[in-house]
Amino acid sequence: MTPPPHPPTQTESSSDSTTDVTVEHFDVLIVGAGISGVGAAYHLQDQYPEKSFVVLEKFESFGGTWLTHKYPGIRSDSDLYTFGYRFKPWIGKPIATADKILAYMGEVIDENDLGRHIRYHHAIASAEWSSSDNRWTLHGTRTDPTTGTSQRVAFTTNFLWMCQGYYRHEKGYTPEWPGMADFTGEIVHPQTWPTDIDLSGKQVLVIGSGATAATLVPAIAGECEHVTMLQRSPTYFVSRPNVNETADMLRDLEIPEEWTHEIVRRKALKDQAEITRMSFEYPEMVRDELLRLVSEELPEGYDVEKHFTPKYRPWQQRLAMVPDGDLFKGISSGKASVVTDEIDTFNATGILTTSGEQLDADVIITATGFDLSVLGDIAFTVDGRPVNYADTITYRGMMFTGVPNLVWVFGYFRASWTLRADLIGDWVCRLLHHMDELGVHKVTPQLRPEDADMETGSWIDPENFNPGYLMRSQHLMPKRGDKPEWQHTQDYWVEKDALPAADLDDGCLVYE
Ligand SMILES: Cc1cc2nc3c(=O)[nH]c(=O)nc-3n(C[C@H](O)[C@H](O)[C@H](O)COP(=O)(O)OP(=O)(O)OC[C@H]3O[C@@H](n4cnc5c(N)ncnc54)[C@H](O)[C@@H]3O)c2cc1C
Repeated sequence: MTPPPHPPTQTESSSDSTTDVTVEHFDVLIVGAGISGVGAAYHLQDQYPEKSFVVLEKFESFGGTWLTHKYPGIRSDSDLYTFGYRFKPWIGKPIATADKILAYMGEVIDENDLGRHIRYHHAIASAEWSSSDNRWTLHGTRTDPTTGTSQRVAFTTNFLWMCQGYYRHEKGYTPEWPGMADFTGEIVHPQTWPTDIDLSGKQVLVIGSGATAATLVPAIAGECEHVTMLQRSPTYFVSRPNVNETADMLRDLEIPEEWTHEIVRRKALKDQAEITRMSFEYPEMVRDELLRLVSEELPEGYDVEKHFTPKYRPWQQRLAMVPDGDLFKGISSGKASVVTDEIDTFNATGILTTSGEQLDADVIITATGFDLSVLGDIAFTVDGRPVNYADTITYRGMMFTGVPNLVWVFGYFRASWTLRADLIGDWVCRLLHHMDELGVHKVTPQLRPEDADMETGSWIDPENFNPGYLMRSQHLMPKRGDKPEWQHTQDYWVEKDALPAADLDDGCLVYE
């Protein structure tokens, strides 16, 4: 892949006399160097090379989710032909480990010379929009990795491209259970995995049944004495060999990798669309088939009804992928087991369940999810007024009523996140070109007269998709309306055509 020509860097510097901090200006400022932020940088450089930009990242390197999570086995749960960018072929197993995803992102950065635009150790704390200047001013800190000391930093920008993800990276979500303090062993959250932990010969209890638990259990089963997955309610799992036969066949035919990527991607998307359609139209049939496949992987007589039959419809939560059936192999070998029950209390030696079973453990791993964070815990103001995103309505799941010149990249849940990051990349570049053609400096989503009485609801319809971390925090999220312009559809197959065709002069976007 040939890197695009270097754009001239058009930064300005000034000094903030009140704080004595140098203020740098960029046309576009991207917060976060995860898969969304690196993608945003690529699209901007590719589609609007005249724009100056910077990516600010609080961590020491790129990767976001794939840098933060270091628990054993950490891997994607969607296939990399669709989780990878559309512009960079994926050459590896469909379900990939974090180190492979990081290596892929590193190649994207190097091949496109994006590194010179990324500043690590920059944590943004506040963002203030001024309509008299038509600019955002961001304040934060830059930490010196060698001394650990911090200094204040300030930036101004015309357009804020928020790629900070959707959860707090520093700490995962752990519910408060009675008696936790009495437990004499170690309690660990996978998001803050202690690299020096030694599980050999230990009894380990993993609380949770999502993708993280399903990854961890087989990954540690070989090392510890025994691992028990304690789940309140089961999850749908899909077990598949971690290969893509179409990709392997095309490679065998020496088809160029760009073609292979595109063909395999299209096929994966078509297959996923079909599964999604079937899940909505024939949920019982899909459920029965998923359970039949799980039964085949487990020993004769295993209680699939109790341990692997969820209460929700398939696709009301993400389907968790089990590459090469590793979770089921762990259970079949006797090194891993599943208990479906609720926690009553923790005690000195482990956990007592509500049905009265005592589960002893040396280490308890709380694979209980994330703590959702709306826009990176940054304090936003618009013309001096604090922004409460819960009071705003989203424009196509990207922008927010009353908040000018700001886009948030929020991907899909049922399909790979990056599919939407790429679509939003095109959309933002189109919007920036449009604004320049109009000669305007400000774009603000605003309800049209015909939207005045529109019904609003939570960001995601719980009937449609309802994982715990979203349900816990829906009250913090922006609202959705009852028209496509005011929703995050969660439907890639609709948006792949709708977003590129969306009329930028539909009256929802007010230009000044
Ligand atoms: C374990 C795990 C597995 C997953 N697997 C999949 C999968 O297989 N498929 C899928 O589609 N999705 C998956 N997801 C969802 C996943 O988070 C997204 O797909 C994607 O990685 C999000 O990328 P992002 O760049 O938007 O955000 P993140 O990866 O969260 O990165 C955001 C970055 O922004 C930085 N940042 C945040 N706030 C600030 C601030 N104030 N100042 C400066 N920097 C800031 C963070 O440090 C971070 O580096 C998974 C999530 C987890 C936790």
